[in-house]
Amino acid sequence: MSNHPANRIQDLQYFGEFGGVNPSISDSSTYTFLSAKTMFDTFEGNADGCYLYSRHSSPSNLYLGEALAAMEGTETANVTATGMGAIVPALLQLCKAGEHIVSSRTIYGGTYAFLKNFAPRFQISTSFVDITKLDTVEAAITSNTKVLYCESVSNPLLEVADIKALSTLAKKHGLQLLVDNTFSPLSISPASLGADVVLHSLTKFINGSSDTMGGVMCGTQDFINELRNVNDGASMLLGASMDSLRAASILKNLRTLHIRIKQHSKNALFLAEKFEQDGLKTVYPGLPSHPSHELFKNMMNNEYGFGGMLTIDVGSLDKANELMELMQERNLGYLAVSLGFYKTLFSAPGSSTSSEIPEEEQQEMGLSDGLIRFSIGLDNDIERTYRMMKECMKEVGVL
Ligand code: PLP
Repeated sequence: MSNHPANRIQDLQYFGEFGGVNPSISDSSTYTFLSAKTMFDTFEGNADGCYLYSRHSSPSNLYLGEALAAMEGTETANVTATGMGAIVPALLQLCKAGEHIVSSRTIYGGTYAFLKNFAPRFQISTSFVDITKLDTVEAAITSNTKVLYCESVSNPLLEVADIKALSTLAKKHGLQLLVDNTFSPLSISPASLGADVVLHSLTKFINGSSDTMGGVMCGTQDFINELRNVNDGASMLLGASMDSLRAASILKNLRTLHIRIKQHSKNALFLAEKFEQDGLKTVYPGLPSHPSHELFKNMMNNEYGFGGMLTIDVGSLDKANELMELMQERNLGYLAVSLGFYKTLFSAPGSSTSSEIPEEEQQEMGLSDGLIRFSIGLDNDIERTYRMMKECMKEVGVL
């Protein structure tokens, strides 16, 4: 097996039912059995290759899952209806009442809100820490801790997690290391660095066309079997299964991910360098000024670059809003949350995707009002884009 993530996707071979070059779509919610005994065995989890009911699994979902497992280099994977539909069941499968999670404090607002406000209903508590400080991470671990949780590149601050070092910590304390790799598919392969479970919101770069939601948990066959167990599997019982039609469409988009990521990264690096030279407070892991630039370089699969996400701080929310509205008016991108689209997307996370995080905590983690998060698009002529963006920045008085 190739140890290159895009080659592993390419090396898979499927044919459709009638020799089609795309696998046939399993457009059924339920499946027939020739014998009642096989149906019983399937319920018991003892009839490999048989399908039961599409909340459990479907051929289309398995194809997509296998392609994503190949990408992440894990034994297998389970696709879900949304990214949160992967994150929440993965955490609930691993933690029960009285247990504890140590999580990075800079994570997607929805994940933060789940851990802070919802998981306590199940008596699962979370300590939020600065994930870049390994001493602080270790100090937060208690005898009840089961999971260490982080994003490879965090939303929205673009902090980089030292996955190898975190994995060493996790192993030392008998924890599972869960890594959300939504911001850095292909660029970083968390499982090869020691992560136990790799999560994605497929809604973002992996699908890449902002037309669907999706999620995945990639891990061992045993863990995925547990998640799908009809009696106590969190994925099976919480019900966030992906629809087969969507699995088929995401699989088709996945095939161009390597080309898209290279272009997102190339464009983002170009803009980040220019913005920084212009004196804007710019954060991008590809800039030597990023505190974890060297760490990212050590972890990355070189050819995919540092990803498509960057932030600038323009000082105030009013200025950020003015600039974003003008950039949208000039068709440089859309004022929208989410990421990984062909067009540039921008939003002010403090008042949108991270608004679940209380203001004083936002300040403590360095999430300022004037921060604009960019998901840089696939623009063909990024120099032209830069010139037009600079014009907007001058007009609103940011430059
Ligand atoms: N993880 C990250 C890093 C995200 O940015 C998001 C969504 O913004 C999610 C997970 C949740 O994914 P979804 O919106 O597909 O549920």
